[in-house]
Amino acid sequence: MMWIGIFIFIILVSAYFRLPLLVWSLIVAAALIGYQVLSGADPSQITLLWIIYAAVIIPLNLKPVRLNLLSRPIYMAMKKIMPTISQTEQEALDAGDVWWEAELFSGKPDFDFLQKLPKPKLTTEEQAFIDGPVEEFCNMLDDWQITHVDYDMSPETWQFAKDNGFFALIIPKQYGGLDYSAYAHSQIIIKIGSRSGSAAVTVMVPNSLGPGKLLLTYGTEEQKDYYLPRLAKGIEIPCFALTGPDAGSDAGAMPDTGVICHGSYEGKDDVLGIRLNFSKRYITLAPIATILGIAFKLTDPDHLLSDEVERGITLALIKSETEGIEIGQRHFPANHAFMNGPVRGKDVFIPLDSIIGGVDYVGKGWMMLMECLGDGRAISLPALGTAAGKMGSKYTGAYARVRQQFHTPIGYFEGVEEALTEIAGQTYAMDAARSLVSVALDGGAVPSVISAIVKYQVMERMRSVINRSMDIHGGHAISMGPHNHLARPYQLIPVGITVEGANILTRTMIIFGQGAMRSHPYLLKEVVAVHNEDQKQGIRDFDHAFFAHMGFIISNVVRSFWFGLTFAKFISTPGDNDTRHYYRQLAKMSSAFALLADICVGVLGGSLKRREKISGRLADALSNMYIISAVLKHYEDQGSHKEDLVLLKWVCEDSLFNIQTAMKGIMKNLPVPIIGALCNFIIFPLTKPYQRPNDRLGHKVARAILSPGDTVDRLSAGIFNSDDKNDASGRITHALNLVLKTDELQHKLRDAHKQGRLSSRDRDAYLEAKEKNIITETEYNLLIEAEAAIQNAIKVDEFSFKDWKVETP
Ligand SMILES: Cc1cc2nc3c(=O)[nH]c(=O)nc-3n(C[C@H](O)[C@H](O)[C@H](O)COP(=O)(O)OP(=O)(O)OC[C@H]3O[C@@H](n4cnc5c(N)ncnc54)[C@H](O)[C@@H]3O)c2cc1C
Repeated sequence: MMWIGIFIFIILVSAYFRLPLLVWSLIVAAALIGYQVLSGADPSQITLLWIIYAAVIIPLNLKPVRLNLLSRPIYMAMKKIMPTISQTEQEALDAGDVWWEAELFSGKPDFDFLQKLPKPKLTTEEQAFIDGPVEEFCNMLDDWQITHVDYDMSPETWQFAKDNGFFALIIPKQYGGLDYSAYAHSQIIIKIGSRSGSAAVTVMVPNSLGPGKLLLTYGTEEQKDYYLPRLAKGIEIPCFALTGPDAGSDAGAMPDTGVICHGSYEGKDDVLGIRLNFSKRYITLAPIATILGIAFKLTDPDHLLSDEVERGITLALIKSETEGIEIGQRHFPANHAFMNGPVRGKDVFIPLDSIIGGVDYVGKGWMMLMECLGDGRAISLPALGTAAGKMGSKYTGAYARVRQQFHTPIGYFEGVEEALTEIAGQTYAMDAARSLVSVALDGGAVPSVISAIVKYQVMERMRSVINRSMDIHGGHAISMGPHNHLARPYQLIPVGITVEGANILTRTMIIFGQGAMRSHPYLLKEVVAVHNEDQKQGIRDFDHAFFAHMGFIISNVVRSFWFGLTFAKFISTPGDNDTRHYYRQLAKMSSAFALLADICVGVLGGSLKRREKISGRLADALSNMYIISAVLKHYEDQGSHKEDLVLLKWVCEDSLFNIQTAMKGIMKNLPVPIIGALCNFIIFPLTKPYQRPNDRLGHKVARAILSPGDTVDRLSAGIFNSDDKNDASGRITHALNLVLKTDELQHKLRDAHKQGRLSSRDRDAYLEAKEKNIITETEYNLLIEAEAAIQNAIKVDEFSFKDWKVETP
């Protein structure tokens, strides 16, 4: 029995540490020799054991034997069942870089990678830009005027943005741009977004997926030299048109065409070019754009470029005044006034040099778009979502302290507290998620899977934060007008959810679909090997990947079960007494995820593509692991402030619970129930180890945003701040400051009332308190001032019957 135990122990330890097959074989051989020498076992038993050993180990370790006996038949079987990858899918797969998500997929994340990443920070110039022009720009913005009266930013604001390089954040200095980091870009959008969603979207678009980004990455020197300085100065306003009535999420199915032919252009005849016919919609900035980036399917029926007729998706830049372009109508996107509209083209002729990147990039449009999606998904939209979270943390927290019902600030009621907890916790997660991905971009990586995770997660959390802020503000947030700072962000939610890959699709198709292929250590290698036209090489590559993959699965089984039993208490990870636990749970869940991902791929094969409920849950698990990584890094980057620990803990516990829910959902819904049950036993041998954050923790999180303090300052850092009592949000800060100043006085009044010295504990007793010398004249004045500030903070706009004019009292 002891020797059986020793053998099992050796096998498990080798699997746990992922020892190479050869090393593992030698260790088992050494154990067999030990058994032979020390145990005094019957020689026939020893011989039998050596025969079994040889039968297993020789085919596994001798490559020619393994190739013929095992790899070839498996390879041939795989070839029959593995679906082919379309060119569009291949281009999406090839786009971008693999980053931290590969560590999460590995089942054994290297935390050194995470810890060695630099802190995101601004240069002096970037900080000065935010404190100067961005602050001034924010002061110029009046969101109500923009969205309800003018349906546009004022001409002065437009000019200010152009003159100060707001549309040139990503353009290098040599072309007259600002060349700011991804982090600075994110900070700028956060500040503008906290003032006006319409203005933020206007600034976002030229700085994310649009002609600027495409030109920078793929443009010819002539294109860059001509367009980039003009974009930097705001002489040209760009837009990029991919979506059309028949091609939304499935943009690759666009019916828009370009045909290579000869035509007339700017007075010259017989120019080789493209005749375009297209119909696009929802295009941001299109109504005022001077240059349009257009995606279309190019054909060359007369073989003017090559023998191929179908040339694939191609991108071109067109001046908006070109004959045949119809532009100028507007959509009205959820009561926001950023420019957005359709653009159509009928028989528009453009020369070949309009193709972004020139003829070398004919047919490469889809790959170019996929490569350049990163900024919108990773920077602009998450910044906008984070701005909403920061606003919610600062102003909803303050409002819940200022607004009283039942003689009590509403934030003190447990029901409201739950909503406040969610606001603060989700904001911390959003801020961390968008900060970490900006570090990747600033380090030169374009992590496509993480960009999709951040886009999806931040937008969903934005939805949650804004909805809860709306609940807490009640009628105050519903009554629209210049004093309402929440209704427009509320209306912006679906915009963030829909653009740059609508959220349902991003969750269920992109995150795991792309993640598994890109970030799994072996899957893509196996797929590529199976599709290799050189079968001999294919089998060799497959053999290598497949056996490493099998070892990987065995290791993940052992590691997951061990971590499940021990609650991962014995893994060495970074972190201190407060954070180590979460690093360990992350390592544990990474191992479980790696195992479960393989099980799903193994059980469902190609049908996993259609089983979106399963791949969506895998995406949830992966995304929540990213969120835990991000908050751990964020907490340390911010200086490990003990006061912020409650936020860190809340997000980690919430995320662990989400991962558990996602994994249990997968196990329950696998088509072979016994496999799900087995996975459950391996990963969660102690049933449900994770619970939602408890009420006590939630209480502390909510209290962090109920009154001013360092935690709420860090949480809301970067937004436009105002304590102007006439400003929609500034009036709440103004009132909060006075409420806190008079807090002790309120206690005094309450005590006096309890003792029967005052007839009331409310504002109607202020005068009585003064007359009875319970408070001084100065204290009385302060109470009156605070009361006025509260009334000002809670008031809502009123409109006249006639002309619907704002007549707020
Ligand atoms: C305000 C605004 C600004 C925009 N700006 C631009 C721009 O500048 N340039 C540009 O080219 N486009 C732009 N768009 C278009 C945007 O990218 C599309 O709206 C988006 O791709 C979704 O397309 P759709 O609206 O047609 O929805 P649909 O494609 O009809 O999708 C509807 C729903 O079905 C879901 N869905 C679709 N397919 C699947 C699937 N396979 N699995 C799971 N769910 C699926 C989607 O997630 C979504 O929830 C903008 C859109 C808006 C609203």
